[in-house]
Amino acid sequence: MKNSIILKSYEVLNDMILLKWDDETESFLHLKKMRENCPCANCAGEKDVFGNIYKGPKQVITENSYVLNGMQPIGYYALRPFWADGHHSGIYSFAILKDLSEG
Ligand SMILES: [Zn+2]
Repeated sequence: MKNSIILKSYEVLNDMILLKWDDETESFLHLKKMRENCPCANCAGEKDVFGNIYKGPKQVITENSYVLNGMQPIGYYALRPFWADGHHSGIYSFAILKDLSEG
């Protein structure tokens, strides 16, 4: 197990988010990449015991799908983005954010 990573703060800059971690490092996450890797059951699917993945109906991606309306911190472990197309069921743990981000 990796040590848990704590997100200290974040800042939305145009089409990306600047993530500041508690080990004093920073990384960038593009909103487009974030949305494309939405971890919610509808986007990422849910696995049954046989390993089959079930996804919800494919979503219509528009320009608004990559526009952030807001962000809700979930406890001390995750962020939940509110996308301008109305999608907001993705809960991104800090570990996922760290994995997706660069820099
Ligand atoms: Zn989703």
